Amino acid sequence: MPKINIISLFKDILDDSSILLGEDLKSRFYHIWKTDMPLESLCLLLPRSTQEVSSILKICNENNQEIIIHGGLTNLVGSTISNKTQVVVSLEKMNKIIEIDEKSKTITCESGAIIEDIIDSVKDKDFLLPLNFGARGSAQIGGAVSTNAGGLRVFKYGMTRNLVMGIEVVLPDGTIISSLKKLMKDNSGYDLKQLFIGSEGTLGIVTKVVLRLYRLPKTRYTSLAVTNNYQNVLDLLKIMEDKLSSSLTGFELLWNDTYKQMVGDKTLYNKYLPDNFKYYVFIEYMGGDFENDYNLFEAVILDCVDKGVVEDAVIGKDDKEQVNIWGIREDVAVLAEEREFDQHFDISIPVGLIGEVIDKISGELKNCEGVKTVFPFGHVADGNIHFIIGKDSDDDELKFKINDIVYNNTQKVAGSISAEHGIGLDKKKYLIKSRSEDEIELMRLIKKSIDPKNILNPGRVI
Ligand SMILES: Cc1cc2nc3c(=O)[nH]c(=O)nc-3n(C[C@H](O)[C@H](O)[C@H](O)COP(=O)(O)OP(=O)(O)OC[C@H]3O[C@@H](n4cnc5c(N)ncnc54)[C@H](O)[C@@H]3O)c2cc1C
Repeated sequence: MPKINIISLFKDILDDSSILLGEDLKSRFYHIWKTDMPLESLCLLLPRSTQEVSSILKICNENNQEIIIHGGLTNLVGSTISNKTQVVVSLEKMNKIIEIDEKSKTITCESGAIIEDIIDSVKDKDFLLPLNFGARGSAQIGGAVSTNAGGLRVFKYGMTRNLVMGIEVVLPDGTIISSLKKLMKDNSGYDLKQLFIGSEGTLGIVTKVVLRLYRLPKTRYTSLAVTNNYQNVLDLLKIMEDKLSSSLTGFELLWNDTYKQMVGDKTLYNKYLPDNFKYYVFIEYMGGDFENDYNLFEAVILDCVDKGVVEDAVIGKDDKEQVNIWGIREDVAVLAEEREFDQHFDISIPVGLIGEVIDKISGELKNCEGVKTVFPFGHVADGNIHFIIGKDSDDDELKFKINDIVYNNTQKVAGSISAEHGIGLDKKKYLIKSRSEDEIELMRLIKKSIDPKNILNPGRVI
């Protein structure tokens, strides 16, 4: 069927303001970091309800029309790029917070709700949605669910998967599967929501979610500590876990080059500690005792300095200091902007091996002609390290060489080539370094049975 008919079919089910065509597409883009590159697409659809999503999918399925799903466009694996023949469906108008159930400790919202808005909406009611990562001001909850996003509090609260209690999703043929339950326990058959969490929009469009909430901790403190030895990072983690137990909510790491860049003259971040240490550890404490929490946290940190576990440390007490300290860790756009071209990595490595493996990878990368900057940082307590590698060219040979260095070293220690960002388009070729042939074949079987015409996010993941 000619494409023009498809658009007239969309016009039968959506109002004009929900269909963007031609010139209107020029103001749209496929990633928040590529706002200067106009979107390529047959049209962009902005549904306002699950029913509209279902009608769109029915039309597309009947007409073998490929669809690319847009959430907040913050993914780091090339998932949301499209071409002129593909229809883009953006969830941005489905952004309502439907219900906060204080008794069941849940929030139900549409998938286009921005994560930070959800966090703010429950804060007033003394609840915490523990999803916390640098893109939370733009990323949507549907995107976070579809990528099973991680972030800075995973070792305490788990990945997004651990927060999803119920889900509503539309299958490629338009069928609406609605299971907006608020249950912690439900072993009545297969846990179908898990199919859609982390499958990067290849199996269905998430339209609503029920999320689990936690009581909002009353206090929050942050420390930045430095050491030159990875064993000390591990010792520090053990002490923090022992002494602070469940109040330890963040334990992040920056390597020297990364810290230098973040506190250098291109940013306004305060340089709290000198830039000549190898490791910079960011520790977050969240507790419930105004009277005693600060004293406890300070005593534990001071003890670590006294005993030489770390060389030095500072504690951020008020909001301003904490925002500054966490900015050094989270504002990774600073690292990406350093060079015209960059490559991002998101690997998982057993925690005990991180020191030596990152040294090895960094050393090999720095010896690689064409590599200009190597910035490692990450969620060390859960074994997830990121790299942003800066280059002056987008040469394919260099790109593959860099990928080989990072992924071969990761494979050698039975790590994962994607800890939390997913596979998208960018990492598809390397999936085999993390998963067996049989596992990938099973993924293909699942995809084929749910999306036999391969219309939804085609070419992504597998
Ligand atoms: C500065 C920065 C920091 C980041 N830090 C982290 C981090 O610490 N941890 C982490 O895990 N990620 C991180 N990310 C990556 C990114 O923010 C996450 O992957 C996020 O979950 C993507 O959400 P989004 O709404 O932007 O989705 P998009 O980028 O729009 O889409 C991501 C994928 O999900 C699909 N999708 C989107 N919405 C839906 C839906 N409703 N139904 C079905 N499929 C859908 C898309 O087609 C695509 O395949 C970071 C990104 C940036 C830019």
